[in-house]
Amino acid sequence: MSPDDSEETELLVIGAGPGGYPAAIRAAQRGVDVTLVEKDAYGGTCLNHGCIPSKALISTSRMADEVATAEEMGIDASVSTDIERMIQWKDGVVGQLTGGVQKLCRMNGVDLVDGRAVFVDTNEVEIYEESSEAATRLHFDDAIIATGSRPMELPGFSFSDEQIMSSRQALAVSEVPDRLLVVGAGYIGMELSTVFARLGSDVTVVEMLDSSLPGYEKDITTVVQRRAEDLGIDFHFGESAQEWTETDDGIQVETQTEDESVQEYTVDRVLVSIGREPVTETLGIGALDVEIDDRGFIETGRRGQTSVDNVYAVGDVSGEPMLAHAATKEGIIAAETIAGEAYDIGDWIVPAAVFTDPEIATVGMTEAEAEEIGFEPIVGQMPFNASGRAMTLGDTDGFVRLVATNDGSLLGAQIVGPEASELVAELTFAIKNRHSLEDIARTIHVHPTLSEAVMEAAEQALGQAIHIPN
Ligand code: FAD
Repeated sequence: MSPDDSEETELLVIGAGPGGYPAAIRAAQRGVDVTLVEKDAYGGTCLNHGCIPSKALISTSRMADEVATAEEMGIDASVSTDIERMIQWKDGVVGQLTGGVQKLCRMNGVDLVDGRAVFVDTNEVEIYEESSEAATRLHFDDAIIATGSRPMELPGFSFSDEQIMSSRQALAVSEVPDRLLVVGAGYIGMELSTVFARLGSDVTVVEMLDSSLPGYEKDITTVVQRRAEDLGIDFHFGESAQEWTETDDGIQVETQTEDESVQEYTVDRVLVSIGREPVTETLGIGALDVEIDDRGFIETGRRGQTSVDNVYAVGDVSGEPMLAHAATKEGIIAAETIAGEAYDIGDWIVPAAVFTDPEIATVGMTEAEAEEIGFEPIVGQMPFNASGRAMTLGDTDGFVRLVATNDGSLLGAQIVGPEASELVAELTFAIKNRHSLEDIARTIHVHPTLSEAVMEAAEQALGQAIHIPN
């Protein structure tokens, strides 16, 4: 029972990002009384400051670049871009989607509360609304924490300084900087470097490690980095940003190389994209005895359960993979578990995509990972320069690679090339459902499509490719 002055709910979901709002909707669909509390904007990072706005600007900048560089296809056009109108268009897309989230929640009977939820104990939160100092109390049976993550700051590079941007600020600029320094060549840094280079910025990327897109195989990152260099992006590896000062000509950023020599870059703005950290301090997490790892992420089991029985955590706040689609599935599984459905989750197969030029998409194991755990994998690879569809698109860099056990069970796939993020869906389905190379090779794919490259990679692994050597 709750104290007299407290409202009650069966399930409290904290945070309305792609982890929280689907969890709330699914639990409501299963007949649970649900309250969803959001302190900022419905849709979370993904819809407001992440996936959607970045992909919107990637699309507009790509379109401008493609039109401007299509002489070979017989198109002569001079293109000019207007960043204010691009941002307005992007905001329109975001607005439609975030408004949709609220409607969907209401339609499914989820109670929405605008405010910040702070734990009092394992069955009660205080909710602080922005406009009011006073808090209301809400008693709950179960809770799902879906409070997400935020960009990490680099010491000395505060996001409160106008010249220093996080990805959030970079996605809302009112003008394109002439000279941009990007610190960090992970997926966010690489995606946004491409956007700004296409819009005319002179982009320099400094990365502490010795290559871009750490975690991806070298032959994949090489394809992306070559295209980025063709756009004029200048890469400096093994360098870490140290400090910056204002000068008469923009700002000067000092970096240090591995051998401790100092480099200087004069730029107009800096984008710091060095990683993301969990959001837990908004929550009063200390009031719960929840286990947290050494980087501050909440430790969870396969169904999102934390070390406190009635408290679950999903999405970025529970660590890798910090991806919207993983957050959504985690949220749905936690909600269904709370609603009493203890079905077998099966294999946890999470595809990932990077929306660079060209795109990267991966799922399951690489060849090296398969070898490491004792398989003797067979590998098939189809380059896009042998794909009729890729040629008609004028986009032939990259390849599809499939990794399978020596009896043909699919273990993993790596794609770099046009529409990689779409192509990976077939392979994710195949791996999740334990399909084989043979299943893919024998499936008829539409001609001419990029998906034929997936089929041909399977055929190549089996020594049966028609259009490339086996
Ligand atoms: P979030 O989306 O961060 O949502 C958490 C919500 O909780 C927020 O709305 C926050 O206001 C709210 N909240 C926090 N504390 C409280 C509190 N105490 N009370 C009430 N509410 C609270 N992922 C992909 O899969 N594909 C992509 O292409 C992609 N691109 C990205 C591009 C960028 C630039 C960035 C930054 C991220 C990108 N991501 C992408 C990652 C993706 O955005 C995250 O993985 C996803 O948003 C995580 O969802 P979440 O629900 O865990 O958290």
